[in-house]
Amino acid sequence: MHCPFCSANDTKVIDSRLVSDGAQVRRRRECVACHERFTTFEAAELLMPRLIKQDGSRQPFDENKLRAGMQRALEKRPVSVEQIETAIANIKHGLQAMGERELDSRRVGEMVMDELRKLDQVAYVRFASVYRSFQDLSEFQQEIDRLQASEGK
Ligand SMILES: [Zn+2]
Repeated sequence: MHCPFCSANDTKVIDSRLVSDGAQVRRRRECVACHERFTTFEAAELLMPRLIKQDGSRQPFDENKLRAGMQRALEKRPVSVEQIETAIANIKHGLQAMGERELDSRRVGEMVMDELRKLDQVAYVRFASVYRSFQDLSEFQQEIDRLQASEGK
């Protein structure tokens, strides 16, 4: 990369080490022309896919929105912030692992439901009822029956 002091084209790496638990590489560089030293950080760029909404519009993935939706479902439930953050990290990791540039937003909804089901059944049903906007009570009842059946396993 160019030297930030004199804009010379050539700089050399004089030291390189892992930081942030190995998530970043810190490099100490020296300009070949003016000999000024500076530091760069290198991290993998993990892009989140854009989400395709039902009307076909595309929206950037919004972690805050995801967190707000999950917190709403988990209101007054015995689930720690730590657990919620782990669930969000799982979802983000899952999305990144797909390697898709665009993804149906329903896929994200399904992933949220999977995580909530593991955390708290009440939150899961709350989220699912809003998300799937159950057409009528019998559909809602079916979901609860299905949950109780899987709990019995
Ligand atoms: Zn320079």
